[in-house]
Amino acid sequence: MDGRSPNERRTPRWFLLLVVFTVTAALGLTLGILGLTSSDQRRAALPAPAAPPSAGPRAETAVEPPGAVPRLKDHAELARLLDRRAAAFRDRDRDAFLATVDPRSPAFRDAQAKVFDNAAAVPFSSWEYEVVEADPFPLGDARRAVLGGTATATARVDLVYRVADFDTAPVRGAQYLTFVSRDGAWYLAADGDGDASGLHGAVQPWDLGPVHVLRTDIGIVLGVGDRVAELPLYQKDIETAVADVGKVWGDRWPGKAVVVVPADQAQMARMLGAEPQQYARIAAVTTGERGASADDAAADRVIVNPDAFRELGAIERRVVMTHEITHVASRAFTRNWTPTWLSEGFADYVGYLDAGQSVRSAAPELRRDVLAGKVPQSLPTDEQFATTHEALPQAYEMGWLACRLIAERWGQEKLVAFYRAAGTDGPGGGAPDQKARLAAAFADVLGTTPEEFTGAWIAYVTTQVR
Ligand SMILES: [Zn+2]
Repeated sequence: MDGRSPNERRTPRWFLLLVVFTVTAALGLTLGILGLTSSDQRRAALPAPAAPPSAGPRAETAVEPPGAVPRLKDHAELARLLDRRAAAFRDRDRDAFLATVDPRSPAFRDAQAKVFDNAAAVPFSSWEYEVVEADPFPLGDARRAVLGGTATATARVDLVYRVADFDTAPVRGAQYLTFVSRDGAWYLAADGDGDASGLHGAVQPWDLGPVHVLRTDIGIVLGVGDRVAELPLYQKDIETAVADVGKVWGDRWPGKAVVVVPADQAQMARMLGAEPQQYARIAAVTTGERGASADDAAADRVIVNPDAFRELGAIERRVVMTHEITHVASRAFTRNWTPTWLSEGFADYVGYLDAGQSVRSAAPELRRDVLAGKVPQSLPTDEQFATTHEALPQAYEMGWLACRLIAERWGQEKLVAFYRAAGTDGPGGGAPDQKARLAAAFADVLGTTPEEFTGAWIAYVTTQVR
């Protein structure tokens, strides 16, 4: 298909984003001091980030806040309560699960029953709770009076789970929980009291509504809400995308993906902890933990914006899903120091590879700039990829063309090798300087320098958009 094909409409301009979460640096140390998990095996399953020295005092003060209701002796009881709750969830024992919830908080109890039921169709291979921090937020006197009981406590508890057959590493989501002790027994009383302190729990698909599941060997769709009839189309998108990505990236990734389809854009934003409008221009995102080593890639989620997807044609859907699954495949080599022009440009390169789109039609904003004499002089910075940046389209288009240039001049295999080289550890295993790592990748893989490459790229952009 050439540039004059009527199928090449690009309205509106949707963006595809890699959103990465960094593991809390103090996590390992906090857990060690509190000693709240009942199982060492679970602690071993945690990522092991280096704890900065400054985390020590903070974690210690969290154990024993001055003048607080005595609760240190109850930590083991909270851990046991959460163990019972996790076991009940895994066993699909609704009564046992609800028995861990405060009987005097009927609305919360109903909400918990809904969450339990919403997740019924999802196949989990693990589901556990880890107490990460005691007293992350205070309870006011009024709130304590409402709760009653003989004691109250708050904690940050991480839900840690895997979807069976798909997650090679756990997904971790924080919950900010309130506990109350009545007649000698602890109960879970609320999960929203942290909101007043700006501590919002992670939102999982089953927090939003009943989850419908569609799966094959290489893809599982978790769809929230009533639009069950749309889910097979997503499954088809995954099948095509996984195959497309494998042709470029090879087989050094699990070759499967978990795609979450919220009911609407507002739900998508809630899952990302964002305001509804923040992702208005975003068609899909891939989430995961940045910085996992190559052999320990944390679980990723492709979260689509269903309102956007409904406006996409077949080719655009393929571009979007292939782009996102490229992030999934390459994320073990997508590190804190990987430039965004490379991670987004590479995902666009794979996404557009078989889409038959010309540069003229796939990079209209950059084309307009260049034809008006505004020729870019440097590769886009990470800041230019902020979702609200006015030149966001140009940033994507510039990254895409940089990767396209590498593939055309050096070959597609060199582009993949360059991506991997840019995403490897620094000397001694630590984080390298971004500039130095990139310069080394240019030299080692492409035999050029960042300056030479930038010059070639400017010339390429200028000729390609015409
Ligand atoms: Zn992306």
